[in-house]
Amino acid sequence: MAEKYTFIVVGGGIAGVSCVENLATLCPEDNILLISSSPIVKSVINLKQLTRNLEQFDVYEKHSSELESQYANVSITQDEVSSFDSFNKVLGTINSKSFRYEKLCICTGASPKVIAKNNEFVIGIRDTETVFEFESRLVKSRRVVIVGNGGIATELVFKIQRCEVLWAIKDNSIISTFIDPGASRFLLPHMLGVGAEEEPFVKRGKFSVEAASKDANTHTSSYGCALGPDWIDLLKAQGRTSKVRCKEDIYCVEVKDILTLNQVRSLGLIQNSIEGSALNDLGEWPVYVRLTNEKLYGCDFVISATGVLPNIKSFENFELGKDGGLLVNERMQTSISDVYAAGDVCTAGWKLSPFWLQMRLWSQARQMGVQASRCMVADWIVFDESEQMDFCFELFAHVTKFFNYKVILLGKFNGQDLNDDYKLLIKVVEGCEKYIKVVLQGGRMVGAILIGETDLEETFENLILNQLDLTRYGDGLLDQDIEDFFD
Ligand code: FAD
Repeated sequence: MAEKYTFIVVGGGIAGVSCVENLATLCPEDNILLISSSPIVKSVINLKQLTRNLEQFDVYEKHSSELESQYANVSITQDEVSSFDSFNKVLGTINSKSFRYEKLCICTGASPKVIAKNNEFVIGIRDTETVFEFESRLVKSRRVVIVGNGGIATELVFKIQRCEVLWAIKDNSIISTFIDPGASRFLLPHMLGVGAEEEPFVKRGKFSVEAASKDANTHTSSYGCALGPDWIDLLKAQGRTSKVRCKEDIYCVEVKDILTLNQVRSLGLIQNSIEGSALNDLGEWPVYVRLTNEKLYGCDFVISATGVLPNIKSFENFELGKDGGLLVNERMQTSISDVYAAGDVCTAGWKLSPFWLQMRLWSQARQMGVQASRCMVADWIVFDESEQMDFCFELFAHVTKFFNYKVILLGKFNGQDLNDDYKLLIKVVEGCEKYIKVVLQGGRMVGAILIGETDLEETFENLILNQLDLTRYGDGLLDQDIEDFFD
């Protein structure tokens, strides 16, 4: 017999927990079940609204029992959903339990899109367990190859010490997911100055997966939560060479093959050496990487940080977005009735605002989880189909840090989907403390990147949302005292 709940949420990451917390507050009389395969759940704390759309918060990891004790109507079970019957509205789990819902929200996140998935020398970084694996392999390593050009790859490259790092970058500049080549050139000189030897500042509670699982009398699962914002501070990234740093970046390449020593020999391939390396490169390595420029490098292991794939394994027959996520409309409804989705697992399928884009980020996981809960409640209690999109979906706004610099991204910050029909204005303030880039289309601001303490976020947010015609300022727009001018 299936246990019955009004609301069931699957996934204990930021999207799922934000959804559960909001449901519990909005519907204190209804019973809510959170099913999560990880014993740890994540909630957002210290939420600060920096501007109308820009928010900053810490992610707090807690044992699921802590969340359960906060809300009288919330139950949590550590289990993995393995089957889904949309006709009877029933979920089955790997521990042979079944649960019936009235309204369901799927928040199962995403997993790394690992190149050469079944190769034991290739790992992806996503959760606490994969970080442990990375740390324990690195300590025995002389050289690693990092593949990818997003935030994870970049942070790892500059954190790793005492190990040679070969960074294979498919673009012509670094961190291209977030910033343009100009901004990456601005940041580059600051990157090597970021030390990894300071004591990490822990800004959230931490539970180890091992400790948390000990008392759980359940099967373990293959899905953990994505890491929290301070994962890089807590990472122990020391290899076993004597040199503190040795890094080589190779631009505009992808991985062609991952080969064993025997394959290298039988193909008659020759290794390339890493510049500045004191090691004898002709020695034997556990694994070899051949790049699309035909160069071959031996290494101890490969870290694949090449994006993510939504976790939809147990959820069949849904309409999917181009990136493989569960397609959702503006009410976060999937193609199956009474089933919603939020966070990394979903693909935004509504008519997007011209200044918003989906990126799989903490901020969007939170916003989508909250939006889903509001629509689930509106549909359940009042059959109210008029629940509006939250204004956070009007403008893309993200604040992060790269190499101790505050980085703010607004709107179409990289001219995304503008088909070259835009103009850029860039200003680098003397001493290189600030980098300001605006994207203009038809004389109106549609996006911006702000690096350093510019104090321009609110002004630019308003200029993008109000679509003020800035033509008369011409190329001198950034030479004005912009903040005072437009406030
Ligand atoms: P998740 O946090 O992945 O949670 C998914 C949950 O679903 C987990 O609890 C999992 O156990 C559970 N689950 C999965 N399948 C099942 C199932 N079948 N049954 C039951 N439970 C299931 N974002 C930023 O904004 N800034 C950054 O700097 C940044 N850096 C990152 C660094 C790393 C290494 C990683 C991996 C991600 C980073 N992100 C960053 C992205 C961010 O972590 C994610 O966008 C966000 O955590 C997604 O939240 P979520 O709730 O959708 O999914």
